[in-house]
Amino acid sequence: MNDDPGNAAPGALESVRRFVDTHDIYNGRDALADVEAATAWLAAEGMLSKGRPITARDLSALRNLRDALREMAAANTMGEQPPREVVDAFNDLTAPHAASVRLDVRHGSLVASNRPSEDGAGGVIAALAAAVHEAVLTKTWTRLKSCDNPECRWLFYDESRNRTARWCSMRGCGSIVKARRYRDKQRRRAAHTP
Ligand SMILES: [Zn+2]
Repeated sequence: MNDDPGNAAPGALESVRRFVDTHDIYNGRDALADVEAATAWLAAEGMLSKGRPITARDLSALRNLRDALREMAAANTMGEQPPREVVDAFNDLTAPHAASVRLDVRHGSLVASNRPSEDGAGGVIAALAAAVHEAVLTKTWTRLKSCDNPECRWLFYDESRNRTARWCSMRGCGSIVKARRYRDKQRRRAAHTP
């Protein structure tokens, strides 16, 4: 249920969304299924130098980070703060990998960006952490949400004015979940009828 073009997040946050959505739960596809697939995907995204394979240990860290990011986005969907253990997991996974601030003057303005201090999977993790950092500061982070359909959980960027979107697509997951709730309600009502 992820064919909605309105899903893209602004700036570097889009790399976080794409990274988490490597696990397409609805369609049962995972671009980080093994080291070969993950290396190819990260290189194609420009997050990893070509010919620089990641290890099984790297893959495990990347997948754990992906899980933490999805849980954090799911908290955004509910308008809540992420559980403490999820925040701790994010911090533990990203702490060993630093990014340094880089300044440039572009079109007469000073612009700052974060550049990972290392190549390889550590650099990927540092870049993702820097993107989350920027999104929290610019208040775009809370718009990155995980679809409320438990069979989907696709990450999308909520562009609605009042920030209340809960599904990756109203026509798809939104209508599926609403139809399911309606059926459950009817069933409960029928069960209570003597
Ligand atoms: Zn969905």
